[in-house]
Amino acid sequence: MEYFKKFWVYYASAAFDLFIGFPAILIVWALWGEGLRWRRGVLSCELKEGSWPVGGPVDLSTGFLTKGFPMWYPKGWYLHNRRAAGAQNAKPKPWGATTLGHGQFYAPGRRGKDWVAAIDVHEDHHTLQSEAAQIGACFLAHLILIIEMIQGDWITGLVLFALIWTLAGNLFMAAGGWLVAYLRGGRFYRDSPHEIGAYAVGRLYTREKRQLQ
Ligand SMILES: [Zn+2]
Repeated sequence: MEYFKKFWVYYASAAFDLFIGFPAILIVWALWGEGLRWRRGVLSCELKEGSWPVGGPVDLSTGFLTKGFPMWYPKGWYLHNRRAAGAQNAKPKPWGATTLGHGQFYAPGRRGKDWVAAIDVHEDHHTLQSEAAQIGACFLAHLILIIEMIQGDWITGLVLFALIWTLAGNLFMAAGGWLVAYLRGGRFYRDSPHEIGAYAVGRLYTREKRQLQ
């Protein structure tokens, strides 16, 4: 029964995973990655140290490049500059990972070890957010297909079906979050409710883990 129920979660995400999430992870892995693995229902890899997006050797205990601090890594990717954002004495925080549905790719050495487990928790939270968004997109895509079929317009129905199922869930979820953050006067990306939620879950995990030790 549990597998039957979980099947529908993956079914709802299938169009995004098969056409965007999984291909993206496989391309990143093939060009610059290592350690491709399937764990807890998520396909993930890590960027290789010194590969093009990373730009050089990394201090694995901090996640920063060994040379060239403060750096922009991966190339042009997002560095959470907390100092620029107004926090006192805070260091810029390097990118840790990116989630695309049931696919995730991590900065070198930042996946699945105890000292970075909060990153896994953060990214897994994004996967859950994506699953919830995909349920809506999947339902809407099927509903529109049925309506178009009844009206006899198969072509429009199938085009909308494919587009909505593949793009509407994650695109609207991400764009909606960024827009809400901006319209409420926050930072476009970092203050989106998805990021705030994922960071909170990660911090909670770190705190609880510390209490157990
Ligand atoms: Zn995040």
